[in-house]
Amino acid sequence: MRQKIVAGNWKMNNSLKNGLELTSRIDSLLKKREERDALVILAPPFIHLSEMAKNIDPQHISLAAQNCAAEEKGAYTGEVSASMIASTGATHVIIGHSERRAYYGEDDQVLNRKVHLALVNSLRPIFCCGEILNQREEGNHFNVIGEQLEKGLFDLNEELFARVIIAYEPVWAIGTGVTASSEQAQEMHQFIRNLIEKRYGSSISQDLTILYGGSCKPSNARELFSNPDVDGGLIGGASLIAEDFLEIIYSF
Ligand code: PEP
Repeated sequence: MRQKIVAGNWKMNNSLKNGLELTSRIDSLLKKREERDALVILAPPFIHLSEMAKNIDPQHISLAAQNCAAEEKGAYTGEVSASMIASTGATHVIIGHSERRAYYGEDDQVLNRKVHLALVNSLRPIFCCGEILNQREEGNHFNVIGEQLEKGLFDLNEELFARVIIAYEPVWAIGTGVTASSEQAQEMHQFIRNLIEKRYGSSISQDLTILYGGSCKPSNARELFSNPDVDGGLIGGASLIAEDFLEIIYSF
């Protein structure tokens, strides 16, 4: 059964106090609503994970880190390892966000190491892929995504790969207010699922969760999520407002 997911990427926002307040607001709104289809994940900054873990009800909310180190441990000043993240109670980790690729030079090889370390430490990777505007305008977007998945993920064996969540995030849509059209999202998600089917077979490809990310908000989430291959969203800006995030969670 394919799992629907709505994950909030808080990026470098919120003090600990504000983050805890936002979490408890989301939690209380979730408790007031009826059963939902989607798993809800929050990705605060690393240093808030432990405190957030003490304050959430894991029945309602799971936690993700926004990144992890590409090494297991050792002399890597400023880095945070996958095992440290797992020890906080987080269950997921975002890997390969376009901001990490663009601003910190994280390439496919580094991201592949992170994916392996996450899985070894029982964290589920939310692996981001996405093309920049030029690549789409040149009609190269399918090749770009294919290569990111090939190099980042496709060396995993079936058992490990089945634990991965993919987030398609066209870079031109992240934080810009421009959303991919529903057709563009479905077209790429279907392409990704077909690639997975070729590599891992139909059962794994049908069960794999593929999220859309890029200016997803209450006004467009329902249309995006109504596509057969869009299983939810990775949400940036709108995840910082409890009511907006809730509306997105109930957009299936
Ligand atoms: C993101 O950063 O993953 C994202 C999708 O951001 P936004 O929703 O703000 O475009």
